Amino acid sequence: MKKWVYNFGGGLNEGRADMRELLGGKGANLAEMALIGLPVPPGFTITTEVCTYFYAHDRKYPDGLEEQVGAGLARLEEASGRKFGDPARPLLVSVRSGARVSMPGMMDTVLNLGLNDQTVGGLAEASGDPRFAWDSYRRFIQMYGSVVLGVDHHRFEDIIEHVKLDRGVSEDTALTAEDWQEVVAAYKETIERETGRPFPQDPREQLWGAIGAVFGSWMNPRAITYRKLHDIPADWGTAVNVQTMVFGNMGEDCATGVCFTRNPSTGENVFYGEYLVNAQGEDVVAGIRTPQPISEALAKPGEVSLERAMPEAYAELLRVREILERHYRDMQDIEFTIERRKLYMLQTRNGKRTAAAALKIAVDMAHEGLIDRAEAVRRVNPASLDQLLHPTLDPKAPRRLLAKGLPASPGAASGIVVFSADEAESRAAKGEAVILVRIETSPEDIHGMHAARGILTTRGGMTSHAAVVARGMGRPCVAGAGSIVVDYGAQTLSAGGQVVRAGEVITLDGGTGEVFLGAVPMQEPQLSGDFATLMEWADGFRRLKVRTNAETPLDAETARKFGAEGIGLCRTEHMFFDPNRIGAVRQMILAHDEAGRRAALEKLLPFQREDFIALFRIMAGLPVTIRLLDPPLHEFLPHGPQEIAEVAAAMGQDPAVLERRVAELAEANPMLGHRGCRLGITYPEIYEMQARAIFEGALAVAAETGNPPVPEIMIPLVGIKRELEITREIIERVAEQVFAEAGRRLTYSIGTMIELPRAALTADAIAEVADFFSFGTNDLTQTTFGLSRDDAGKFLPFYIEKGILPRDPFVSIDVEGVGALVRIAAEKGRKARSQLKLGICGEHGGDPASIAFCEEVGLDYVSCSPYRVPVARLAAAQAALGQAVDRTA
Ligand code: ADP
Ligand code: MG
Ligand code: MG
Repeated sequence: MKKWVYNFGGGLNEGRADMRELLGGKGANLAEMALIGLPVPPGFTITTEVCTYFYAHDRKYPDGLEEQVGAGLARLEEASGRKFGDPARPLLVSVRSGARVSMPGMMDTVLNLGLNDQTVGGLAEASGDPRFAWDSYRRFIQMYGSVVLGVDHHRFEDIIEHVKLDRGVSEDTALTAEDWQEVVAAYKETIERETGRPFPQDPREQLWGAIGAVFGSWMNPRAITYRKLHDIPADWGTAVNVQTMVFGNMGEDCATGVCFTRNPSTGENVFYGEYLVNAQGEDVVAGIRTPQPISEALAKPGEVSLERAMPEAYAELLRVREILERHYRDMQDIEFTIERRKLYMLQTRNGKRTAAAALKIAVDMAHEGLIDRAEAVRRVNPASLDQLLHPTLDPKAPRRLLAKGLPASPGAASGIVVFSADEAESRAAKGEAVILVRIETSPEDIHGMHAARGILTTRGGMTSHAAVVARGMGRPCVAGAGSIVVDYGAQTLSAGGQVVRAGEVITLDGGTGEVFLGAVPMQEPQLSGDFATLMEWADGFRRLKVRTNAETPLDAETARKFGAEGIGLCRTEHMFFDPNRIGAVRQMILAHDEAGRRAALEKLLPFQREDFIALFRIMAGLPVTIRLLDPPLHEFLPHGPQEIAEVAAAMGQDPAVLERRVAELAEANPMLGHRGCRLGITYPEIYEMQARAIFEGALAVAAETGNPPVPEIMIPLVGIKRELEITREIIERVAEQVFAEAGRRLTYSIGTMIELPRAALTADAIAEVADFFSFGTNDLTQTTFGLSRDDAGKFLPFYIEKGILPRDPFVSIDVEGVGALVRIAAEKGRKARSQLKLGICGEHGGDPASIAFCEEVGLDYVSCSPYRVPVARLAAAQAALGQAVDRTA
């Protein structure tokens, strides 16, 4: 006969903590606590396999279950010296659901099961307290009535209110045994009226009713939704725990409480929790009475800690805390009850915690010798570090909500509202903190986004331009706040009747998507202390190097501060959008011939050189990968008649000429058009100028500091070996010229992005002329799937919701498809050239799952935006260590 029931407590322990799949988390840990000698009221667990059987067999129970539950009950009767349904000494139990992972949406616990019109008398007798007995009985009917029989809980609350009104009292505690007796009578009447059947008096019927309700709740809509949201398979099933009751509500020497072995929001090593004297189960969280703190150290004036109220029970609890932490080697979230001064443990589990607490607890526990450093590194979710690297709103500060959008990029920012990128830049230059507010953003807004402390858009999703760029820059961003109306003409934004004018202050919380009126006080991020310690440990375990994507000195400096080991991608076109240079860029584009282009490029050269010098100083001695011009030229030209007229006037050009050139350069499909190395091959003078700027800049820094960077010049969008050969020749020629002029040489390398399937498939040929490959996985994803990211918003979310794709391939690398190309290119490339350096520079370079893939394929480095550098360092360490565990909330 298959075993469906596992006993715990009372000297018979058949389960263990590692049996959570079979026993659910609650049952497995109850067994484990009993096993290590902690005081656990005896009980038994009906396995998750029964739940699975139940649904596979038309809601029927397997053979043998009834007998095994009966035997379990008999054991509880023996252990407690009470009998189920015995009017004199009744056994009472709780029926508790417990899935493998804690799951809101499941049936609530039923306490005091086994009470009926007879046994209530026995309980009154045994406790010497009829009021307690009738209160327990009415609680039982209320819980059973609402969670098992489905009677609306308001019905019960109304009855209590009615009785209180009748007696002229306002507190539950003022009701007497007779009052509760009256409540019970009214409850039973209500149940009979609502369900058409009297309240079940037979304890066995009650028990099976509750067991059936737990299994039934596995498929209720709330539970199904929760499972869907958290990727919990339906076939896991839930277990049911039946446990002997202990009473925290039998008088002033009784209590019940919940606590964490450490502070779950700060991680501080203090016993943190709450309790109530003379209370049962969920009274502590129900908010009817104000719970008191567990430890004296946390008691405020007027509060009575458990430490003071019940010193022996507290001492015992403290001992349990110590044992549990040593045993589980992690912070525990525990539930306990004190019956007549004796402590009973009712639950323990690894406690949920904030990112800050996860970090502190991991580091502290390693220092305390509870875990080793590798384990500490495994325990912090890299993605959660994001929360710690940005200023956050002071949780205690008052605030006035204006609107809510999407939490597009974490961090908080306050500043004055501006509605254009140019104004953002000019006011920021004067030292003002600005929030750039746009309906949506485009590449022309980049400088304003950079200058702004935060970005707010009213349109667009989590992968809109604003969201992606803001995350890359580490700017807090609330995107798609649809309830806000922006009026550029009037220079106002409004929401819910509130109007905010340009120049007035708002605050964004990019972590929640909230927009507040006025300035909300902030807390600065802590990059020292525990954070630094954990990062240092992580660095000791990782193999992958971590670089950053950066094109401004600010980004480069931030990234260095976060531990970047060089630049993996410097996008030179961002430098072209700067207002000082865009004129010369446009002049180049409008030129009729090579001579005209060269003249314009001549003007750009000093700017580019200065850009590189600034970056090279910061990245002294480190590799700096610079990608030569990539986007199609029309991106630099104005659009629309008004803008064309303005630009033409500024350039002293005929608007008609400009308009014609804009029309000439227009492409049906710019992503696949005249861009990348195709530009460099058709207009070699552009790449010549950029190469010259790079070499001259590097030599200047070498002369200045004696510590030059190692430029790695990267050619975008190569699909054919010959393309790289041609561009390589251009660069080598310029290098020789510059070195001859300077009379000094420099180490540098030339490589390519791999962002087209053809490049990946012919990587062996390409590697013959490449010193390195950098996987541009944004474009590689677009070209592998044959989808344009800018147009994917119409179907990609649907695909993910329907499970056609498991996740957004722009967030986490598509290992099956895009990953296969990366693997092929890495293998072929290394076969052709064993020293070939391999890296990744798409946004995936900062995504922990993608980083694990990079580790597996054996890339040399990942490159990501500055604020993701610590995330990548930790993720790389975890990838090297193997499986990580997330304990954050
Ligand atoms: P949840 O999963 O919602 O926490 P639990 O099954 O843990 O539900 O129970 C809810 C409350 O009832 C908790 O406070 C718990 O400590 C209390 N409780 C459960 N079983 C017993 C019992 N046998 N004796 C006393 N209190 C109990
Ligand atoms: Mg609980
Ligand atoms: Mg690209």
